Amino acid sequence: MPVSADQVSDWIRAFAAAVAENREYLTELDSAIGDADHGINMNRGMQAVIGKLDTAEPADVGALLKTVGMTLVSTVGGASGPLYGTLFLQMGTSAAGKTELSGQDWADALAAGVAGVQRRGKAELGDKTMLDALIPAVETLRSALGNGSSLDEALDQSAHTAQEGMTATIPLVARKGRASYLGERSANHQDPGATSSWLLLRTAAETLATEDS
Ligand code: ADP
Ligand code: MG
Repeated sequence: MPVSADQVSDWIRAFAAAVAENREYLTELDSAIGDADHGINMNRGMQAVIGKLDTAEPADVGALLKTVGMTLVSTVGGASGPLYGTLFLQMGTSAAGKTELSGQDWADALAAGVAGVQRRGKAELGDKTMLDALIPAVETLRSALGNGSSLDEALDQSAHTAQEGMTATIPLVARKGRASYLGERSANHQDPGATSSWLLLRTAAETLATEDS
């Protein structure tokens, strides 16, 4: 069974709720290696997204994701606004005109979004950024679907590797973004952006699952 446009909308709302719930936590993580605003930034952006979605009914999945991306770009300052904005805009381009998504469509859209974040922020795996959760999640999703796993299993596995990627940022020294200004002192702290990206994948697993996919 494909993922419906309503499920994609549920995912965005679940992500907004998870960000709101974890606002203090994300900000606390950012206070250790940044400027203590990641939770505030993401929550401001996602609340604006919810406001937009409540007033406009996007025509399809691509339009929905583009609306999310444009809203984040225009409401969130700092690194995370343009980066998450790009993620959703590229996902929207990948899903343009689609009224539902197959597992492969979902994997393609997420991969396009993550590639956009990489192009935009010029970070690589291991630089202690959101990409440390996102890149493994895409790879796991692709290999799980390639091995014949159901979409539900693939979503669960990709959320799990995103969590591992998030935890793996703890010992790393940051090479991109504000945390990189701290040099070695950025080690022993979990990256805030990798943490919000784990929430993104976790809520995807919770909302996009379809019974017999
Ligand atoms: P700012 O750093 O401008 O205060 P936020 O605190 O909202 O913005 O977001 C910080 C997060 O952004 C970091 O934890 C990291 O995951 C992510 N980030 C920063 N720079 C980059 C980059 N070049 N590529 C990918 N992610 C990045
Ligand atoms: Mg910050």
